[in-house]
Amino acid sequence: MTDPSTVWEYAPAPESTKVEIKPEYGLFIGGEFRAAHSRKWFETINPATEEPLARVAEADAEDINLAVSSARKALKTWRKTPPLERAKYLYRIARRIQERARELAVLETLDNGKPIRETRDEDVPLAAAHFFHHAGWCDKLKWAHPAPDGGEPQGIGVCGQVIPWNFPLLMAAWKIAPALACGNTVVLKPAETTPLTALRLAEIIQEIDLPAGVVNIVTGAGETGRRIVEHPGIDKIAFTGSTEVGRMIATAAAGTRKRLTLELGGKSPNIIFADAAIDQAVEGIVGAIWCNQGQVCCAGSRLLVEESVMDEVIAKLRLRMRSLRIGNPLDKNTDVGAINSATQLARIRRFIKIGSDEGACHNDEPGQALPPKGYWCRPCFFTGVQPAHTIAREEIFGPVLAVMSFRTPDEAVARANNTAYGLSAGVWTSRGSKAFEIARQIKAGVIWCNTFNQFDPSAPFGGYRESGFGREGGRSGLAAYLA
Ligand code: NAD
Ligand code: MN
Repeated sequence: MTDPSTVWEYAPAPESTKVEIKPEYGLFIGGEFRAAHSRKWFETINPATEEPLARVAEADAEDINLAVSSARKALKTWRKTPPLERAKYLYRIARRIQERARELAVLETLDNGKPIRETRDEDVPLAAAHFFHHAGWCDKLKWAHPAPDGGEPQGIGVCGQVIPWNFPLLMAAWKIAPALACGNTVVLKPAETTPLTALRLAEIIQEIDLPAGVVNIVTGAGETGRRIVEHPGIDKIAFTGSTEVGRMIATAAAGTRKRLTLELGGKSPNIIFADAAIDQAVEGIVGAIWCNQGQVCCAGSRLLVEESVMDEVIAKLRLRMRSLRIGNPLDKNTDVGAINSATQLARIRRFIKIGSDEGACHNDEPGQALPPKGYWCRPCFFTGVQPAHTIAREEIFGPVLAVMSFRTPDEAVARANNTAYGLSAGVWTSRGSKAFEIARQIKAGVIWCNTFNQFDPSAPFGGYRESGFGREGGRSGLAAYLA
């Protein structure tokens, strides 16, 4: 690996910010944008500059009633629409996302703070891929999940979907595409800090003439989300976000007829065996924990390294960390962008302090200058971490890696499974049989071998235990949207 002191200084390469942002955005209900009943608005900002981007309507109980009844009304015709016709709408949405990809990537970076390299190469293409994939399923549902009488399976009805701020457009696609493919209608709420790309998706939905009310997008914070999930007109709830809110939703849904899927937090292990290709593994560690500033539910936030290669891995990781470029997310050279909000930054800092207070050793690269405004956290890792330490147990949702060692494969598995979560895991080894043997023993919904954070619409994603239940993507993901 090159010594970063010999690395070239790059000239800034900012992406143009020329993308239309209206001063205010209403709620998308029944195919139209409208102000909230209360006429209340909230602001969404650019976390890299702290500058306001737009005002967004805050939906209250009356707005949610309207959104749910418009979804209910649209359901009557949408569920009778021939599957191939439904597919055409999904294909149109997918193609329009591709055609407007640059605009969506810039908007996502402005509203969320993540690097343009990620929105351009991951978030937006994957969102389009998700609609393409599910368009293909529309007329094949009876082969995927045949109805008991062998006929066409039916959707569940009106779906209330609440999503987080870490992958705003992608999560909207993960929720809307399978719901529509299976003949459901939707009331979706994006997170309060990142509503703009979901609202852009609403414009696309309007543009491609999706029948009014099939997709309704309402904005607001936790209270608006709560009103959606508790609304009696909702048949299915799909939630992605914190385990804490997930628990509240599960409690609220218990004893109702509502179907529920939850995609919650994680504290995923990334296991490096001594026989792994170490340079590739180090790249994998970087992608696992520092992608999207670590604000990823399946982030590889617990690094487990076989003792004999610990020194080598740490030395290479330190070197690699030094060459990460943190700063303006719109710069095409940027690796690490802004933390999504002041609240999230405070939470991450609190964990970093606890890590040091409990006796682990904090390592970062203080040499890099940070932008004057915005919410920034340097990538870092902790060594000297004990399994009982807070930073080894709790989800931080930031660029903070806890490093621990192991001596034997059994110890690796025991440490990997020593968590209340079970979302994902990484296994790095050059021996195929070992990869399968270890993967079989790890309790997690998704396990990557010699890679990390790979997503494909055909591969189901979801958790175990406190990471939630239900799958998104592929054939398994359809089951969550069929009666
Ligand atoms: P959150 O769970 O509060 O928010 C996620 C979504 O749920 C947002 O749209 C929010 O408005 C909505 N919401 C909040 N309270 C609700 C309620 N009572 N009923 C219905 N919907 C509600 O997450 P957060 O506060 O943004 O972040 C807190 C922590 O959660 C983070 O630090 C991180 O650890 C974790 N988190 C995990 C994920 C994930 O994908 N697993 C995503 C975001 C945050
Ligand atoms: Mn924002």
